[in-house]
Amino acid sequence: MQQVMILGTGPAGLTAAIYLARANMKPIIIEGSQPGGQLTTTTEVENFPGFADGIMGPELMDQMRKQAERFGAVFISGWVESVDLSTRPFKVHVKGMETYETESVIISTGATAKLLGIPGEREHMGRGVGTCATCDGFFYRGKKVIVIGGGDSAMEEANFLTRFATEVRIVHRRNELRASSIMQDRARQNKKITWSLNQTPVEVVADGKVTGLKVHDNDTGEEQTLESDGIFVAIGHLPNTAFLSKQVHTDEIGYIIVKPGTTETNIPGVFACGDVQDPIYRQAVTAAGTGCMAALDAERFLQKNAIHDWSQSL
Ligand code: NAP
Repeated sequence: MQQVMILGTGPAGLTAAIYLARANMKPIIIEGSQPGGQLTTTTEVENFPGFADGIMGPELMDQMRKQAERFGAVFISGWVESVDLSTRPFKVHVKGMETYETESVIISTGATAKLLGIPGEREHMGRGVGTCATCDGFFYRGKKVIVIGGGDSAMEEANFLTRFATEVRIVHRRNELRASSIMQDRARQNKKITWSLNQTPVEVVADGKVTGLKVHDNDTGEEQTLESDGIFVAIGHLPNTAFLSKQVHTDEIGYIIVKPGTTETNIPGVFACGDVQDPIYRQAVTAAGTGCMAALDAERFLQKNAIHDWSQSL
């Protein structure tokens, strides 16, 4: 049996691992299907405090992992298929491997940006195609960009990008936007934003680097290429919570609900941190912050509620 297991290795899970390892709690961390999380698909990170000259996303995650390992965190390369949280110790089933028993669990499995699945999209991810304007907008100073989507995220990303880009074109597959009227109004009033409605994206066009987006006009049936230096896909995120099989309370989209001001879920001993419980901020630094909170919450929980006397095994 383990004291604490951490599911997921983005900034939230790795920060929790650093804190718990330093507290001598020997955390076991299951890496997940994308070790390092979403930051491993970005290039330069310039807004994570402590790196005056910026740092590459994969390098930042590698450093966090090494920091956790230095204090004794144990990483297991695997993917959590399911969990049984009905009684303690909880059971964590890792696909193709053993079932672990643990006194507490920290869920930091993150969220995945939804993608269009069109040619060129994955190939240019992090190099002309992105899913986070706050992260990458700065690189498009003086350039033309496209934002795909008709929801609040797309409106927000487009408005944000007008701080840098000369033109921001919103491409949406329908004539009606899904975004709230206040967000729509803000975008419509922004003179740098242009619109391509009723246009379905069909291909990211590139010539060494991204040069545009091919779209299908749903009125005329014609295809054309819209010129652009960068493309932001803003069609929503999905929190990675399917493996929980509804044992932990979530909102209607699937984001875990935590008790405000804590990382506690509806199940005592189960904590959630990072993007899996955050539909709003979704930043590496906020994920790291909640990872720290989850470690401290788990530590305090075990001080009061441990089944096993862990002092004998240290
Ligand atoms: P969303 O509301 O689900 O909107 C997703 C948009 O992407 C929709 O317009 C949808 O088109 C489009 N889309 C989905 N799949 C597509 C595909 N395969 N190809 C082309 N287009 C596709 O997602 P969101 O904008 O991320 O917002 C999620 C939630 O967060 C919402 O509740 C939103 O209000 C909230 N949010 C709030 C704020 C804020 O208040 N500041 C900011 C961001 C998000 P259709 O409309 O045709 O389905």
